[in-house]
Amino acid sequence: MRSQIIAAALGAASLASLAGLVGPTQAAVRPQATVDAKRLLAADSPANAGQWMSYGRDYSEQRYSPLEQINVGDVSRLGLAWYADLAERGGSYETTPIEVDGRIFVTAPWSKVYAFDARTGKLLWKYDPKVPGGFAVKLCCGIVNRGVAVWEGKVIWGTLDGRLIAVDARTGKKVWEVQATDRSKTLSISGAPRIADGRIFIGEAGSEFEQRGYMAAYDAATGKELWRWWAVPGDPEKGFEQPELKWAAKTWTGEWWKKGGGGTPWDGITYDPVTGLVYIGTGNGAPWPAWVRSPGGGDNLFISSIVALDAKTGKFKWYYQETPQDGFDFDSTQQIITANIVIDGAKRHVVMHAPKNGIFYVFDAATGELLAAKPFVPTVNWMTAFDAQGRPILNPEANYGKTGKGFYAVPGGGGAHSWYPMAFNPNTGLVYIPANYSSYPFVAEAGAKMGNQLLSINVAKRPSGPPPVLVGAGSYLLAWDPVKMKAVWMQRQGSGRAGVMTTAGNLVFQGTTPPFGSSGPPTFSAFRADTGERVWTADTQAGIVGGSASYMIDGVQYVAVVAGNSAFGDYWEPTYARLLVYKLDAKIKLPPPMPYTPPVLNPPADFGDAALLSRGETEYNSHCASCHGNNGRVSSVFPDLRYAGQLWSSDAFDAIVIGGALQANGMVSFRKVLTLHDADAIRAYVVSLANEAKKEPPRGRFRFGPPGGFPAAPPPGAAAAVPPPPEYHHS
Ligand code: CA
Repeated sequence: MRSQIIAAALGAASLASLAGLVGPTQAAVRPQATVDAKRLLAADSPANAGQWMSYGRDYSEQRYSPLEQINVGDVSRLGLAWYADLAERGGSYETTPIEVDGRIFVTAPWSKVYAFDARTGKLLWKYDPKVPGGFAVKLCCGIVNRGVAVWEGKVIWGTLDGRLIAVDARTGKKVWEVQATDRSKTLSISGAPRIADGRIFIGEAGSEFEQRGYMAAYDAATGKELWRWWAVPGDPEKGFEQPELKWAAKTWTGEWWKKGGGGTPWDGITYDPVTGLVYIGTGNGAPWPAWVRSPGGGDNLFISSIVALDAKTGKFKWYYQETPQDGFDFDSTQQIITANIVIDGAKRHVVMHAPKNGIFYVFDAATGELLAAKPFVPTVNWMTAFDAQGRPILNPEANYGKTGKGFYAVPGGGGAHSWYPMAFNPNTGLVYIPANYSSYPFVAEAGAKMGNQLLSINVAKRPSGPPPVLVGAGSYLLAWDPVKMKAVWMQRQGSGRAGVMTTAGNLVFQGTTPPFGSSGPPTFSAFRADTGERVWTADTQAGIVGGSASYMIDGVQYVAVVAGNSAFGDYWEPTYARLLVYKLDAKIKLPPPMPYTPPVLNPPADFGDAALLSRGETEYNSHCASCHGNNGRVSSVFPDLRYAGQLWSSDAFDAIVIGGALQANGMVSFRKVLTLHDADAIRAYVVSLANEAKKEPPRGRFRFGPPGGFPAAPPPGAAAAVPPPPEYHHS
């Protein structure tokens, strides 16, 4: 009788598995998702090899599955086992599926969570935390979420309005909820929490809004805050929360605390059971130009750093600042991997990191000693060399706030590697990095905004002098040898903007949105882990940006990924968001795509003089660009205004911009900051952009990126010199 009740609660759970009849290499479908410290420590053991129990699969964050039923020899037989439609639109699905004991958990835009039966795709429950729509204006980078944590029968995640929520993994019923941020501030949670020994670790986002970053630990049973570590010092007159902030404050000048300073640790968190430390990556400085933020210079600790804290107490242990004086939005928040590798004949327990600044780092995990550092993209120009201690020597030209000339930073365009998770395969010894090689123009202007982001960057201006011409620029999947510190293969069929998983089957899985300007379908692909050769691909209808996961139930290996990239296709194009689950010899087909005719640009004739257009450009960049796009650096997912029918009527345009007619859709009234004349100037500017765009050739189905895409080869003529790559090896 008891078994029947439990089985009913489980949906498809088998009584055989409850009775312990399932073999040790098969996922035991347990009465609840009982992830605990013991299981996570034994993640590769036969009992747990078929699970994906946390964001990076286990504590090491290697995203390596020991399963090998699907391998290079049979991957061509991989097919769709089931799929589930996900309802939310307007933001990319950045989630990594978590599979525990036959249940699979994914997050969706607006911090919603779905639970499915991992074998059949049956929906078990869905939780909507009801984040107020108004929070959309407090986000730099969309209504996104990257995943849940599972711990002792609970599913725990963060929300865009800064809450941590724990629900029962079986029922989706709320167990507790806690506010982890000050709601009056522009702080949000998009990252996946990590858990060790009953402590949940989560940081927040908000450096683009001049916030002050912190990481905190909470009790997984109750949600009570256990410790908090501040990434940058506050007002010295108020005293410092931690002893290290006293000396960190000496690396700042001016009145930085009035603008928060930044350093928000919004993504990478890795607990290391070997050292008892939790490693976190801190965000960029705020506002962006170092000279605006800290006008007398200084490194600005602990922005753009990797920091090790005692996991129990939150006490500071070691740090390495990857980008001193960061002025390039070089968050160091990217996922952090721990591994045992052999360097110079000695086994070392290391921390590996490949942040936005383009350098691959290997640290001793216990001490933070830098063992090696070298660009994983062809080169960088924000630094010139490493000194004898491994500290980067900064390029004085890169301090564009001080020089006043602007600077094309390499890498640029959101960094060489952002939150898209990388993976490490202990069999090949390679790290697989979604890499981007490009430049980005930074021009400082104190107080300038992009939308409501307080960047002190004028996004409409360009640095003096030519941009650097980068040979081999673009987006690709890179295999990097962390011992020899060199690239082993690069695969342009892969992506710089999608998460990676690797398996014991000598495979690397990645979503592969087609390159800028291309019209091919978005796909999910498998590559040989040793050579990079593409060995399998499937049309997914929707782009993939998040990471994939692999698990085994009743002797069958599955690969799961969420397709749902809001940046793909036209804004009006029918979009799909689905959890896709593959296994060998499965034959399910996705329904054919819905018919679609692309909209036609139909703006009225240009109007207004140069002064009106210039004013329109300034106001557009200040108030509209962060949601509606700017110069190809589109940061969100709202309509492309060049297509708006309201461009034909100042009354209709004003009714929205000033009158707030579309308030219910999240388009608030700008009455407090814009006049009717401003609205007319913006309309004139957008009309001019639309008429300009009518003359351009179509740019393909990927909406974001530099106009015309990245150059494939250097154009003729003068180009800024690109320096050779710097390198550091510990002697
Ligand atoms: Ca940032």
